[in-house]
Amino acid sequence: MTKEEALKTYFGYDAFRGGQEPVIDALLSGRDALAIMPTGAGKSVCYQIPALLLPGITLVVSPLVSLMRDQVTQLVQMGVPAAYLNSTLTFKQYLLALSRAKAGRYKIIYVAPERLETEGFRAFAETADISLVAVDEAHCISQWGQDFRPSYLNIPAFVKSLPKRPVVGAFTATATPDVKEDIERLLELRDPLRVTTGFDRENLYFEVQQPDSKKAALLELVQGRPGKCGIVYCATRKNVEEVCGFLQERGVAATRYHAGLEAEERRRNQEDFLYDRAQVMVATNAFGMGIDKSDVRYVVHYNMPKDIESYYQEAGRAGRDGLPSSCILLYSGQDVRTNEFLITHSEPREGLDARTAEMLRERDLQRLRKMAGYCRTRRCLRQHILRYFGEFAPDYCGACYNCLHNFEEVDVGREAQCIIACVSELNQAFGVGIVAETLCGAETDKVRKYHLDREQSYGALKDLTQKEVRERIRFLLEEGVLTLSPGQYPVVRLGERAEDVMRGGQPLLMKTVKEELPAAPRRAVPDELEGPAAELFQRLRNLRARTARMQGVPAYVVFTDRTLREMALARPRTVAELRAVSGVGDAKASRYGKAFLAEIAAFEGEG
Ligand code: ADP
Ligand code: ZN
Repeated sequence: MTKEEALKTYFGYDAFRGGQEPVIDALLSGRDALAIMPTGAGKSVCYQIPALLLPGITLVVSPLVSLMRDQVTQLVQMGVPAAYLNSTLTFKQYLLALSRAKAGRYKIIYVAPERLETEGFRAFAETADISLVAVDEAHCISQWGQDFRPSYLNIPAFVKSLPKRPVVGAFTATATPDVKEDIERLLELRDPLRVTTGFDRENLYFEVQQPDSKKAALLELVQGRPGKCGIVYCATRKNVEEVCGFLQERGVAATRYHAGLEAEERRRNQEDFLYDRAQVMVATNAFGMGIDKSDVRYVVHYNMPKDIESYYQEAGRAGRDGLPSSCILLYSGQDVRTNEFLITHSEPREGLDARTAEMLRERDLQRLRKMAGYCRTRRCLRQHILRYFGEFAPDYCGACYNCLHNFEEVDVGREAQCIIACVSELNQAFGVGIVAETLCGAETDKVRKYHLDREQSYGALKDLTQKEVRERIRFLLEEGVLTLSPGQYPVVRLGERAEDVMRGGQPLLMKTVKEELPAAPRRAVPDELEGPAAELFQRLRNLRARTARMQGVPAYVVFTDRTLREMALARPRTVAELRAVSGVGDAKASRYGKAFLAEIAAFEGEG
């Protein structure tokens, strides 16, 4: 079988995506490879196809148990004999899997890095014919990366211990130079073929909002996308609880995931989301690595993550099927302060000398500043991300908030003076909201309680809305004209630049949205379905949901949204026509073909 045939027979795809082919060729020819591809680019195919074509077994080292189970389920659905070995198996199950592995029953075995050191596994590996070791999430070997896992450091020793050195492939979505270097060096790759594919994900739309109320903004985002699946990432468990409860109270089918929940609840909630029983997953960053639900239509960050790597990885879980999807970050200045606090107060990792610990901290702070820069920039957001990863990008993408809006600079010098005067009149003792209420001359309980209507600044900016005043206060906070006190109820204080501004003389330019521009059509991104195709698509989705339930697998494992879309457009009548649809391999055609063809025929009959 050729690699093209394997791609069509098992995966049902007609062509390789950028970067896949050279990596597959290298591994098949016995050369190590290091593949750096963004989430959703199709890394798994790069080692799964060699696994099918090489004579022996392929071991896939993977850090997360949920990832393994999902990938193995998908492979089995495609007719590939695969298994996983990790801590979720009982000892008996483990021994059974191991004995089957010894008997040569599997082509692909997923294994947790910790397993490599166990005696039972070593004994198996010494006698087995291992052709390829694929290291997934290879950045876990580097302490410069976000998720360093010491057990990854044992991989090279394991490879060396084998009677015959297998070819080694390393895969990651992290592209920073130090991490890349660490992977090559620590994994002891031999003259690897290095492939880096474009980090751009054309189907993703990017936006940063700085709302007054994150909850209200989130609700609007969720309610504006009925029937669509989304992930909402929060910084803390407490936030997850709060936000999930809030959405549920408003009638949204939301569920939650964080490390503080019992394993059983985590599993159940994750499945509710995977199986489309819950539309919105509210989670900490503990959720998602290895979740390849392909039809996530939006990812909202309720808090700003600590760096752009984390952000792009999490946001990249939207739209893995290539259909248009949104990545929206709800930013507040507090997010930056919280992260700063976490970085400067975190315990250094055990065994690190003081200098290295200090260096790591400095880097973390630098990364944080780049992330904050993303939230504040008025320039193309996609460009900001791609440049961060060292990739060239034009300064207009046509598919991010900043590219779709015109901004204008207005001089807010006079207004800033009113705000500063008000803050000092209020003895630097009130929060943003009350300062804005006072300046706008609002008649609220707080204003009455503290007799703020007797202040000189009361109503000084009554021509502006409270929202506009808050927007200006936030701008002044960013500019260092004002500062916020630390703590749970921050109050507005004067910053180092306040005096300067009071003296006046220089314009103080703030960018505000002037007008919305029409979206530019992006290449390669399919449009939303309309008319009968949309109707048929929905029917096929329903059939998929029923089928998945019966099989006890997540819906996207049966067929992805992208495949169902194509089916709805092509309306195949025969198995051969169905096989021409991207994503329909042999095993799935024979397993599900009849039912899906019948559904299409029924739809044609009614139409
Ligand atoms: P990654 O591991 O890089 O995040 P995956 O391997 O999960 O990405 O692939 C993302 C999606 O793209 C999957 O649904 C996968 O089946 C699909 N895919 C991979 N290669 C191809 C291809 N050559 N043609 C079409 N779809 C592909
Ligand atoms: Zn842009």
